[in-house]
Amino acid sequence: MAEKRDYYEVLGLGKSASEEEIKKAYRKLARQYHPDVNKADDAEAKFKEVKEAYDVLSDSGKRAQYDQYGHVDPNQGMGGGFSGDFGGFGDIFDMFFGGGGNRRDPNAPQRGNDLQYTMTIEFKEAVFGKETDITIPRTENCDTCNGSGAKPGTRPETCSVCHGSGQQEVVQNTPFGRMVNRRACSNCGGRGQIIREKCTTCGGNGKVKKQRKIHVRIPAGVDDGAQLRMAGEGEGGLRGGPAGDLYIIIRVKSHDFFDREGDDIYCEIPLTFAQAALGDEIEIPTLTEKVKLKIPAGTQTGTYFRLKGKGVPKLRGIGQGDQHVKVVVVTPSKLNEEQKELLRQFASLDGEFTHEHEQSFFDRMKRAFRGD
Ligand SMILES: [Zn+2]
Ligand SMILES: [Zn+2]
Repeated sequence: MAEKRDYYEVLGLGKSASEEEIKKAYRKLARQYHPDVNKADDAEAKFKEVKEAYDVLSDSGKRAQYDQYGHVDPNQGMGGGFSGDFGGFGDIFDMFFGGGGNRRDPNAPQRGNDLQYTMTIEFKEAVFGKETDITIPRTENCDTCNGSGAKPGTRPETCSVCHGSGQQEVVQNTPFGRMVNRRACSNCGGRGQIIREKCTTCGGNGKVKKQRKIHVRIPAGVDDGAQLRMAGEGEGGLRGGPAGDLYIIIRVKSHDFFDREGDDIYCEIPLTFAQAALGDEIEIPTLTEKVKLKIPAGTQTGTYFRLKGKGVPKLRGIGQGDQHVKVVVVTPSKLNEEQKELLRQFASLDGEFTHEHEQSFFDRMKRAFRGD
């Protein structure tokens, strides 16, 4: 075994250092050499050296003994092995960085996992809402043992090896000194508890997989991609912890006539040339009923008409969106002789383009042909 450095020297202090100075020096050096932070090869050894020095000097009894007798080799069993009680890396991180980390109580209640379910619905179901049942596989607490995993009438016992912490410290003597590692308790597998007689329903793990039917109410007006949260319908919590939540992602199928943008509905209606030119009253399908729409004479293709309040109910708030109707003038592709003749007569009549809009439109085109 290598010659040990003086503990005061390790901490960079004089023999008269106060408790406060010892603590301060230790914290500074422990941070510097902590193997999680410092990746140098000798960091771990340095860290242990610092920790050992601190363990002795921070304890007034051990310090007095050290001041009087100097180093005592723990392997010789003198002084009750005071020098090598190395508590592992977990402790120091808990102490400096507020805990958490690897020292969680294995018996603490734990919230269940959230679950996600994707549901595809029809276009109109999204508009008007829908109630339905879905079946999801989820893990729940075993009813037979109430989640304890122990056979009814028995209870889990606290592990006698780790006393419920679920962790075991393993001390090894190495050429570099004593090493203390913390690992999951081998007696209880890290649970902190031993179940002598297992519940036969769940096999001792306190959980069962179930196909659970859940009633879902989809509100009117949901849109594609909407997310519904059902509190407490996720997986069961552990050791009395609350259940997780269930998130339902809504996918909405498209419709072959209606399009939707937010709360508004869009559709296209074909018009004949005669209807557009002479005007007409036509029927328009909406989400709920047919309504009449007056097409004024001289309507251009691509014109939008608005049907107020015929859109989607607003998910939040009152009222509904609108329906926007785009009219598209369809050029006839099959004409009989009589129709062709009439159109020829129409075209030969003078002054076809009397409308202001058409005038300017054709003027613009003519100018473009001239290269203006
Ligand atoms: Zn144990
Ligand atoms: Zn059970």
